[in-house]
Amino acid sequence: MWTAVILIISVVALVMALVNRTARIRNGEDIDEIRNSLYELRITLKSLRAEWNFKLAKIQVNLLKYQEKIPRDRIPYFITGECIACGSCLPECPTNAITENLLFEIDPALCIACRKCAEICPVGACRPLEEPAGAFSA
Ligand code: SF4
Ligand code: SF4
Repeated sequence: MWTAVILIISVVALVMALVNRTARIRNGEDIDEIRNSLYELRITLKSLRAEWNFKLAKIQVNLLKYQEKIPRDRIPYFITGECIACGSCLPECPTNAITENLLFEIDPALCIACRKCAEICPVGACRPLEEPAGAFSA
């Protein structure tokens, strides 16, 4: 609930800043500001989405363990907001648990925690799902 409110406020604030800056384009510096605003907006959305994905994936994993569909001691992997979308992890996954859908994501039901994605990732964005939520923002 509060994350949704923060998301809406952040997006509105960034869009208003962007509109404001767009209205007064005069030179290269203003264009730099617009580009920076777009970058900030992208990072905010990406990080909030990654945080939501993290929370939902944890719930999904707990349900899968409760239903005994995955072993209780398995800790599936998760792709954090630090992902730079290089695509290197996609062909490495032996169970096709990784998909590209705006962000790269791991299906915890398919992940067997083999670590192959973590070993190839250039920015350390593939991590076990048990890490604290704070570690998953961009
Ligand atoms: S840990 Fe292994 S199974 Fe899980 S997403 Fe990464 S490569 Fe795929
Ligand atoms: S290897 Fe890392 S940075 Fe590249 S797409 Fe996969 S998670 Fe993202």
